[in-house]
Parts: sequence; structure tokens; C-alpha cells
Amino acid sequence: MAKATRMTFCSFCGKAHNEVRKMIAGPAGVHICDSCVSVCKTIIDRELAEQEKAPAGKGGAKASEAGKFKLLKPNAIKSALDEYIIGQDYAKKALSVAVYNHYKRLAAEKLQYEAPKDGFEDVEIEKSNILLLGPTGSGKTLLARTLAKIIDVPFAIVDATTLTEAGYVGEDVENIVLRLLQAADYNVERAQCGIIYVDEIDKIGRKTDNVSITRDVSGEGVQQALLKILEGTVCNVPPQGGRKHPNQEYIQVDTSNILFVCGGAFVGLERIVGSRTNAKAMGFGQKNARGEEPKSTDLLREVQPEDLVHFGMIPEFIGRLPMVAVLEELTVSDLEHILQNTRNALTKQYGKLFSMEDVRLHFTRDAIIAIANKAIALKTGARALRAIMERIMMDIMYELPQSTDVEEVTITRGSVEGSSKPKIKLRKTDGKKESSAKDAA
Ligand code: ADP
Repeated sequence: MAKATRMTFCSFCGKAHNEVRKMIAGPAGVHICDSCVSVCKTIIDRELAEQEKAPAGKGGAKASEAGKFKLLKPNAIKSALDEYIIGQDYAKKALSVAVYNHYKRLAAEKLQYEAPKDGFEDVEIEKSNILLLGPTGSGKTLLARTLAKIIDVPFAIVDATTLTEAGYVGEDVENIVLRLLQAADYNVERAQCGIIYVDEIDKIGRKTDNVSITRDVSGEGVQQALLKILEGTVCNVPPQGGRKHPNQEYIQVDTSNILFVCGGAFVGLERIVGSRTNAKAMGFGQKNARGEEPKSTDLLREVQPEDLVHFGMIPEFIGRLPMVAVLEELTVSDLEHILQNTRNALTKQYGKLFSMEDVRLHFTRDAIIAIANKAIALKTGARALRAIMERIMMDIMYELPQSTDVEEVTITRGSVEGSSKPKIKLRKTDGKKESSAKDAA
């Protein structure tokens, strides 16, 4: 027996350790030899390659190698986005195409796909990172996050203002890759085809009036540091995060297939675009054919790399973000839809919370409009909606769990504006009546 001779045997092929090159021990006396490991690897590789070749499913969905991402056609991506995001049709379309091309290129690479002899054999498709321009709370982060969910890849958000070029206080740019690695549970392969959203990218613009002879810590230096990662490099990621230091172990992550979506409000960019287009075409202050000032998103749609350079972004950085999509400022009617019609709409979320208490929640049309108007006044787009709702719902949510006789709560315009309490309908059992929240408590 093994214990007398200290001989070990492969649990798969039965060979003794002196008959093989390498024996690997597992738990409870299990061993595997090097040749069985390579047989297993061949089997796995073959099966995965076969799965890849399987025909595309509904909407063009196809499980990629080891299920790393779902390759969906642009129209399928757009309709999935429609479930979560209201409006922003132009940005959704642009993103759907960019994301489809990105993952198509990746799927082809992973399959080591033999290109048909069509004269394009030597053509390499470059990565196309995306720049989202649009006001706060218009859905930039939501778009990137939802895309990652639809394609089923890891996703991380980083704030460009926390980054700094190596050597300065702040986070090293490698930490943004670390976030993605964490989102992928440290699965490097999965992280390497994930999506990173870099928020507030406009805040690292070079300050044009900065005449300091020292380096610009927060602006240009960070853009320089981000360049390589955006373009694709193998970077050494410290698994614990923080600043890099010698003697630390690193995980190597190749960023060439990571899709970067950068977003920012770029306040003032429309003026730069406006003055360029006006100067060329119409002359300053000119109105359009209907006598209106051009809308800021209309101007932003005309953005050219030179405008972004004028804004303070360095040309090489802009060159790494060839796909630019502009998001519109949300209107009252968009906000009404967001409140009611998206998959995780706030009114549905509160409705669910109330139904757990066995209470129906109802919002009058006027109440919805009043909430949307409040959000517009705050000028933070849809971002304000949650805080407004929390404030409206706080009292009633405090009182509800201890009142068993409430059947229905109606949020009215008055309760949004603070002039009255939500309407309460009590259960039939002990009679009759409708009352205010105060009576129910
Ligand atoms: P941004 O990144 O443009 O500042 P976010 O994407 O973070 O804005 O939006 C904040 C929140 O507002 C989101 O979590 C979402 O609930 C809501 N939101 C913003 N825009 C939309 C939209 N177009 N459709 C649905 N919800 C939206």
C-alpha cells in the first residue's frame, strides 16, 4: 500500500509516480499525473471550441468561449437597453453598434477564427472605446452598467478625479483595472473582456490657463497615465490595491480587450463647438432657421476632436475614444416615464415594498408630474428622483409596518408638495373609511 512504500499512484491512469514526469496531489490521497492533466485539457479545449461553433440563439445570442460574454446583435442590445433606459435613442444606437463590433472582434479572436479569403486577412480591427457626453443624471453610468449586464461581462466604475499619475498622492491608474478584477472575482480571463466606466472624465482636462512650470497633477498627467491602459497594455495590478511598492506581488492583466466607456458632462463644450460652427457657417449669435438658439445637445452632436482638445483633453487621449455619443437632457415627460415605466422604476420598487406589507400603493398622475417637476428644478436629471421619493415616502413608510388595517395608500400632488398627507384607505373589516396618514398611525 502507498502508506508502507510512500508510493503514489495517479487516480486516473493508475501509473506510479516513478513512471511519470510530475504527480500533483489533491485532497484525501487523490493524485493526477502530468499526462492525464494534458489529456483533460485537450478534452476541455475541444468541447469549448465546439460550443463556440454552435449556431447563434435567439436575437443572435451566442454563448462565447467558457460563457465569457453574450454576443448580441445591435438591435437586440438596443431593445434590452430600452427596458432600463428612457430616451437617449441616439446614444443607445451608437453604443449598441460599438459594443456589438467590440465583442464580435473579441469572439473572432477567441475562436482564432479563420477569416475568409476576402482580401481583409491582414486587417486588424482596432478597439473602439466610447466617450459619452451628457448632463448629470442623464443615464451615462446607467447605460454602461446596463450594457455590461446585457453582455454578461464584469463591470467597474471609477472616478477619474481620484486618479493621479504615478508618483503623486492619489490612486494609481492600475487600480481601475483592479476594480474590474474584483468585479470578476479575480478571474483574469473574465476581467479581460469586461467594461470599465470612467466617470468625470471632463474633470481631468488640462487647465488652459495653468501656467505652472510644475506638472499638472490632476489633469494632463492623468490623461497620459490612462492612455496606455485605454489603448491596451499588460498592466501589473496590485491585488490589494493602494499604491504600488517594490516587493509586492502583481496580477498581470491585459487591457487590450477591455472596453472603456468614459463619461462626462463637459460643461461649456457646447460653447466651444458653437463658436467654431458659428464662426465657420453663420457668424456669432446666429439663430437657426426657426429663429431658435441651437440646443446644447444639438451643438454637442457636432463635436469634433479639436473641440475636445480646446476643452483641455490631450489629442492622444481623444484618439483613444473614437466613438462619441451625446446624451440629451431629460425632459419632464422622460422623468415621468423613468418613474413609472422602466423595469426597475421607482414607483414599482416602492409598490413592491408596500405589497410586502400587503398594502397597495398608488400614485396619481398629478403626483408623478409634480415629482418630475421637482427633479427638473434641482437640475441633476433623474438622479434627484430617488431622494425626492425618499422624502415623500419616509413618514408613511415609518408608520405602515405597525398599522395592519391599511389597504391602499395614494400619493397625491399635495403629498409631493408637502401640503397634505398621502390618502389612506383602510380595510373593510372594521368598516368603511378613507383617512389621512395621521389617522392611520
Ligand atoms: P450620469 O452618469 O449621466 O450622471 P446616472 O446614469 O448615474 O447619470 O443616473 C443616475 C440615476 O438616474 C440612475 O441610476 C437611474 O436610476 C436614473 N436615470 C438617469 N437617466 C436615466 C434614463 N435615461 N432612463 C432611466 N433612468 C435614468
